Amino acid sequence: MRLIDGEYDKVAVASSNPALLTLAHKVLISQESAEQLVNLFLPGISISYRGYRGGAGSSSGITLPVPDNKWQSQNTVIGKLRAGIVLHEIAHLLQYAKSKYFSHDQEFTQILDRIVASSRPFWMIP
Ligand SMILES: [Zn+2]
Repeated sequence: MRLIDGEYDKVAVASSNPALLTLAHKVLISQESAEQLVNLFLPGISISYRGYRGGAGSSSGITLPVPDNKWQSQNTVIGKLRAGIVLHEIAHLLQYAKSKYFSHDQEFTQILDRIVASSRPFWMIP
């Protein structure tokens, strides 16, 4: 079992705000809201989807993992997405833009913590 459901333990341990990160992984948002969230940080990027068991792909856009039973096609999700997963994938592309690599290291965790906090009013809808 992971420290934070949906997040790597390495990231959970390094996070400066694990409580907020845990909350983000519990909040479910619509496909439309997920795309708005992506556009807050990565304006105009193309968005596609894949099942959890699918490959990550290598497009220049962002690919959001979705539970297999909630995934219909690259463009259509059935049901809702976890805000924490969407933010995790955004953090990967922001780190790549800055440092040209993908990881779950300290820098990645700092980026993730920053965007989880700054987007909190957006995804934490009562
Ligand atoms: Zn990752």
